[in-house]
Amino acid sequence: MFEINDIDTVVKNAIEEISAIKDDDELEKWRIKYFGRKGIFAALTSKIPQMEQSLKPILGSKINLAKKQLTTLYEEKKKLLASTTSASQADAFNLTIPGLPTEYGTLHPITLVSRQIVRIFQGLGFGIHTGPEIETDFYNFEALNTPADHPARDMWDTFYLDEQKKFLLRTHTSPVQVRVLQKMPVPLRIIAIGKTFRRDAFDASHSPVFHQVEGLMVGYDISFSNLKAVLTFFLKELFGHSIKVRFLPSYFPFTEPSAEISISCVICDGNGCQTCAYTGWLEILGAGMVHPEVFRKAGVNDENITGFAFGAGIDRIAMIKYKIDDIRHFFSNDMRFLKQFR
Ligand SMILES: [Zn+2]
Repeated sequence: MFEINDIDTVVKNAIEEISAIKDDDELEKWRIKYFGRKGIFAALTSKIPQMEQSLKPILGSKINLAKKQLTTLYEEKKKLLASTTSASQADAFNLTIPGLPTEYGTLHPITLVSRQIVRIFQGLGFGIHTGPEIETDFYNFEALNTPADHPARDMWDTFYLDEQKKFLLRTHTSPVQVRVLQKMPVPLRIIAIGKTFRRDAFDASHSPVFHQVEGLMVGYDISFSNLKAVLTFFLKELFGHSIKVRFLPSYFPFTEPSAEISISCVICDGNGCQTCAYTGWLEILGAGMVHPEVFRKAGVNDENITGFAFGAGIDRIAMIKYKIDDIRHFFSNDMRFLKQFR
């Protein structure tokens, strides 16, 4: 048996309990406790038939009212929990957890070698110059003593940009020599670093885009001895002072005499390996005394002015320095490769 006032007690307890509930699981337990098949309201309702006849309707409506009131509270609580759950997830950031490490970029090996070359020559008082990648035939060939019918043009397989073959992608950085001679007073010493382009295959040792460093030193008493001293110092700074440097006669249309300059192989220490084709030597530089015709084409007419010029492939230097066996790595944007250089 129970009294009508017991329902009030049930409601009072239910309200106290639901207000303390903090998650969906507790709320579901609460719902089952009051509204489940074996819940409190089911038990109360089952007792109605045994009640005094006059009390039955009052009791029935009182139970219905209580159920309605608690059902409303249940729905409200359910909504509240749904909104506070997402809010508490937003608050759940733990400010004491260490942050995720930032991904740092690395410098490209071509950039690293270029910067090292710049530092060496800046230390020798050389200025740093640049020139356009799109050149005219005059600066790329004509002014460098390589007229249209010159057999040496075969040394460069050129990307021409127009039918008349007037504009082209420079095949070397040597045009910068002419541009500098035209606008700078003598004596001068400069280097220029940049991209160069040739119609080469794209394989392990060739790329249609590559990088060169060009150098020029011009004055009234510049001799081949200066060339030897500057370039020997440069190569020893770059590859280490234990290397040997070798000069052999060579040919370029824009220098006379010309030399090809090799270092003792840094991989096998001069004993012979695959990289040096078992010669013990690695060819690094082409150089020579500036051809009088180049001075004349650039408008330098003082016969007492002499100078030397040199050029080197930066990709090749980087490949030797970092023991990279395929030039295509430089252009592949493979993070696994690039991350190794700092
Ligand atoms: Zn070797």
